[in-house]
Amino acid sequence: MLDNLSDKLDILFKKLRGQGVMTEENIKEALREVRLVLLEADVNFKVVKDFVERIRERSVGGQVLQSLAPGQQVIKIVQEELVALMGGGEDNSLDLAAKPPVAIMMVGLQGAGKTTTCGKLARLLRSQRRRPLLVPADVYRPAAIEQLKTLGRQLSIETFDSQATQDPVDICRDAIRFASLNGFDTVILDTAGRHQIDEYLMGELVRIRDAVEPREILFVADAMTGQEAVNVASGFNEQLDLSGVILTKLDGDAKGGAALSIRAVTGKPVKFVGLGEKLDALEVFHPDRLVSRILGMGDILSLVEKAQATFDEKEAERLQQKLKKNQFDLEDFRTQLQQIKKMGSLESILGMIPGVGKMMKQMQGAQPSERELKRIEAIIDSMTPAERANHAIINGSRRLRIASGSGTTVQEVNQLLKRFTEAQKVMKQLQKLGPKGLMRGMKG
Ligand code: GDP
Repeated sequence: MLDNLSDKLDILFKKLRGQGVMTEENIKEALREVRLVLLEADVNFKVVKDFVERIRERSVGGQVLQSLAPGQQVIKIVQEELVALMGGGEDNSLDLAAKPPVAIMMVGLQGAGKTTTCGKLARLLRSQRRRPLLVPADVYRPAAIEQLKTLGRQLSIETFDSQATQDPVDICRDAIRFASLNGFDTVILDTAGRHQIDEYLMGELVRIRDAVEPREILFVADAMTGQEAVNVASGFNEQLDLSGVILTKLDGDAKGGAALSIRAVTGKPVKFVGLGEKLDALEVFHPDRLVSRILGMGDILSLVEKAQATFDEKEAERLQQKLKKNQFDLEDFRTQLQQIKKMGSLESILGMIPGVGKMMKQMQGAQPSERELKRIEAIIDSMTPAERANHAIINGSRRLRIASGSGTTVQEVNQLLKRFTEAQKVMKQLQKLGPKGLMRGMKG
């Protein structure tokens, strides 16, 4: 996820970190590089311009230049501004407090992932004790109605019995009435999409909106289409006044252009992100956590939440306690890796563990895979319990023994230990600062 962007920022930050003294000239150069990285990531031109300007304003002041680690200060500013750019600190929760049934209208182009996301959202809302009704209102695309009904069956969530011969506005109105009579508190309307914005479609969407007055109008955007997604979102926003955006396929997006600019361009918050084809691959959007992932600091909060959802309560509790007490050791590291296999998409999970995503890449120069995971496990397996509990005792001869025991090289053992130490550092900071302070206090 967002690998290109992540790699480029990594290179830039390494350079900045090494700089003991900074001058206005250095800062100018760094800003030029930030600008390039963002443009290459397909971030909207104007957004880049404003972003760089904000960093410049905050960086050129005497405080940054005179601080002990000016490079670090600039990195911190870039981090904070990235979070702010994506709407960090704003309330992006769904507005569902009104008298039920509350309608959520899903809009977007064909292929963006609208129908799938309706199913995912219904599933998520049910896990929050709501009672959702799925409503197929796309009468144009053959099989769209059937697709949603199938999703509903898979999830055991009721789907309104629409017919392709009906008028979409009538379907939505009838569905609300049906929901109200049958005790559904949330109605998710899957509206029609087109390959591009057209007037007829917009007219229909406006009529549906006026007929059912949804609390939420969510634009479903395919993150992989970058600026195109941002432009289309603006178009929909002008006509419908969106309440938010759901970014799908972030799992397959290497650049991050849509993720970084859609909030700034439309002024509307990203509320959820889609991270895979499976029906559980929808997450509430947390800008600070995404920035942590992009910057390779991992995303322990999401990991713990995911762990809570997947593992038994006791295991999750144990992990949290360990994190709290700052006792996270190689044994836990290994347990986590083993649990990962149970948690679905390897790639999305790996990025959440501080240092692990990068370590995999360094070891193999490729996408992490089950095989590499096994290597890491093999290395940890070849350690004694004492070594796993306290990695500081692992000296040169122990490293040699571990490498030969696990069929790896000393270099690979070294890499693992280095990354693990970094992971521990992040944990420590997390512990010291609490979740909110993580970004602010990061020392890189
Ligand atoms: P619609 O035309 O907008 O209703 O799009 P669909 O819901 O039919 O989805 C189009 C394709 O995108 C399907 O193959 C989905 O499985 C896929 N898809 C949807 N969301 C995601 C996501 O978050 N990640 C990935 N990798 N694929 C997704």
